[in-house]
Amino acid sequence: MKQIVFATNNKNKLREMREIMEGLYEVKSLEEIGCHEDIVEDADTIEGNAKIKADFVTNKFHVNCFADDTGLEVEALGGAPGVYSARYAGEHCSYQDNVDKMLAAMKGQTNRKAAFRTCIALNLDGKSYYFEGRCDGHITEQQRGTEGFGYDPIFQPDGYDQTFAELGHEVKNAISHRGRATQKLIAFLRDLG
Ligand code: IMP
Repeated sequence: MKQIVFATNNKNKLREMREIMEGLYEVKSLEEIGCHEDIVEDADTIEGNAKIKADFVTNKFHVNCFADDTGLEVEALGGAPGVYSARYAGEHCSYQDNVDKMLAAMKGQTNRKAAFRTCIALNLDGKSYYFEGRCDGHITEQQRGTEGFGYDPIFQPDGYDQTFAELGHEVKNAISHRGRATQKLIAFLRDLG
């Protein structure tokens, strides 16, 4: 079976990708190829950070590789936190710190429109490709739900009455930014055969 490296050590993302790619590619993690470096994601766009990760692995290990990066863009905050979503409340902050900071920043704000964007950068047989997934919604007034991670308890996707944290994995994966970007990647790889 053909192999491809997913530039992550995130167990949830890996499991999800392995399930989706079963029979198509054997998906390897960074750990499994012996990549223990801390890859510095210092681009100012999510596209840039995804590319940094994929290029680092391809250049060093001479393998086909893909990497993803996600940002939450809030309209009233001029698109922040965007590429800085992971460390919105500080360098070593928790998911809850980020949620608290966002609710405080949005207090009294009537325009609560927001979108998650995921970019996947793929290096395959010497060529580079990008896939993007987007999910529009709004920031809720209060956090609701216990599933998921990150900003899920305060993000309500358009067309639903519940937050990502209330909707659960199956619904979220079908409509989420990452789910949509991943579906595009898979369709592309399947077409190649
Ligand atoms: P990453 O690029 O996938 O590591 O995502 C960067 C940050 O965005 C994470 O640390 C989370 O705070 C947030 N994030 C990414 N994906 C999601 C999601 O599906 N739900 C909620 N928050 C997310």
